[in-house]
Amino acid sequence: MPPSRAAEVARYERLRSNPLNLAGRARRRESVIIRSVAVSSSLPKTVVIGAGVMGLSIAWRLAQSGCPVTVYDRGEAGRGASWAAAGMLAAAVETEPGEERLLALTLESQRLWPDFARELEGVSGISIGYRDDGTMVVALTRDDTEQLRFTYEFQKSLGLELDWLSGSEARRREPHLRPGVPGAVLSLRDHQVENRLLIHALAEAASRAGAVLYEHCAVREVELARERACGVVTDRGYDRADVIVLAAGAWSREISGIPRSHLPPVRPIKGQMLALRMDPETPLLRHVMWLPRGGYLVPRRDGRLVVGGTVEERGFDDSVTAGGLLALIEGAWRAVPAIEELPVAETWVGFRPGSRDDAPILGPSRIDRLVMATGHHRNGILLTPITARSISAYVLTGRLPESVHPFTPERFLNARLHRAERLGPVTALETR
Ligand SMILES: Cc1cc2nc3c(=O)[nH]c(=O)nc-3n(C[C@H](O)[C@H](O)[C@H](O)COP(=O)(O)OP(=O)(O)OC[C@H]3O[C@@H](n4cnc5c(N)ncnc54)[C@H](O)[C@@H]3O)c2cc1C
Repeated sequence: MPPSRAAEVARYERLRSNPLNLAGRARRRESVIIRSVAVSSSLPKTVVIGAGVMGLSIAWRLAQSGCPVTVYDRGEAGRGASWAAAGMLAAAVETEPGEERLLALTLESQRLWPDFARELEGVSGISIGYRDDGTMVVALTRDDTEQLRFTYEFQKSLGLELDWLSGSEARRREPHLRPGVPGAVLSLRDHQVENRLLIHALAEAASRAGAVLYEHCAVREVELARERACGVVTDRGYDRADVIVLAAGAWSREISGIPRSHLPPVRPIKGQMLALRMDPETPLLRHVMWLPRGGYLVPRRDGRLVVGGTVEERGFDDSVTAGGLLALIEGAWRAVPAIEELPVAETWVGFRPGSRDDAPILGPSRIDRLVMATGHHRNGILLTPITARSISAYVLTGRLPESVHPFTPERFLNARLHRAERLGPVTALETR
C-alpha cells in the first residue's frame, strides 16, 4: 500500500531534522527557513534565554500549546529594554523611508495588538494600560511644518491612515500645546500600552500556562553537540533542551558557546528617559505626542508623563547625564510649556537591541535548534504579538510565517562584521 500523506509528511519532517541531511544524502524540498525544530511527535522541551517581552511572550505561547518551557533571566524578569520603553505602538508615524519592508511586519503586529491585549489581560488578570487615543506629531515652526508635510506625504503614499490637522485643530484636541503651533499630523491607529504592566502580565500568563521562570539565573553558555544546540549551562547547572530561543535583547552577543560568527549582529543603543508627574484627573495630554526634532511625550493613566528618548551609541554606559535630560526637557517644554510646573518622578536608562539594519532578527540560526528572537531595536513592544506568534509557530511546526521571512538571521550571512557607528552628541533624540 502506498504511504499515507501523513506518513509522507512525517518522513520529510524526520529527514529535515536529521543532522546528516546534507546535499545528496536526504531529500530536501523546503527553503532553509522551513526547517523542523520539533524533534519528534512530542513537543520540544524549550529553553528561552531572557525574560523580556520577547522571551516571556514566546514562552507564554509555547506553554499554551503544551510545550515544556523554561525561561532564564540573569536579573529580574522584564527589567531590560522592555521595562525602559515608552510603550508606543506606532507603526504609522514612525515609518521612515527605507523601512517599507519592516512596515508590513509592524502593521501586522499592530493589528494583532487589541486581541493580544484582551487575551493577555483575561488570562493574567492584570490590566496592561492599552490606550487607543492615537498619536499626534506636531510642528512648531515653519521649517518643521515643511518637514512634517514631506514625511506625511511619504507615509500617505504607503497607504497609511493619517490626518493633517491645522494648528487650531491640533490645539482643540490638545489644549496645552504651545499657542501658534502651525500644524500637526494625527494617527488614530498608533496606540500605546504600559509596558511595565505588560511585563507583569506576560510573566503571570506564562506561569499560569505552565512555563517555569528562573530569575537572577544567567545562562552562561549554550552547549553544542555536532553543531546542534542541546542545552544551556546556567547559574543553577545544566539544562538539556530540544530547542533554545535566544531572546537576550541587547545582551544577545554575550552568551558563550555560540561561535562569534553565528551570534546575532546586535548592539546596545542607549536611551535616556524621564517621567514627570501630572494630576491623573487633569492630565496635560491625551495623545502620544511626537516632537519635531525628535523625542516624544507619552501620557499614562496613572498621571505619569513619559518623556523620551535619547539615542546614543555608548555601549552599556547606564549613566543619566545632564545633557540627556536637558535635551529631553527642552524638547518637551517647547511643545507643551506647562510641563515646567510638573515634578520629575523618575529618570532611567535602557538599551535598545539594535540590529545592523534596525530590523528584528527572527527564526532559525545557522546552529540547528537555536532560534533567534532579538534585535527589535525601537519597535520591540509593538512587535511583541507577531514575534510571539511567529517564533512559537516555528518551534512547534518548523514553519515560519511568510511575513517574517525577510527578517531571518540569514540576511546577514556573508555580510561584513558590523562596526558600530558613533552618532555624535549625547543629546541626539529619537526621531520618527
Ligand atoms: C528608551 C527606550 C524606549 C523604547 N520605546 C519603545 C516604544 O515606545 N515602543 C516599542 O515598541 N519599543 C520601544 N523600545 C524598544 C523595546 O523596549 C525593545 O525592542 C524590547 O523591549 C526588546 O525586548 P527583549 O525582550 O528583546 O529585550 P529586553 O527587554 O532587554 O530583555 C532581554 C532580557 O535578557 C536578559 N538576559 C541578558 N543576558 C542574559 C543571560 N546571559 N542569561 C539570562 N538572561 C539574560 C536581560 O536581563 C533582559 O531581561 C524602547 C527601548 C528603549 C530602551
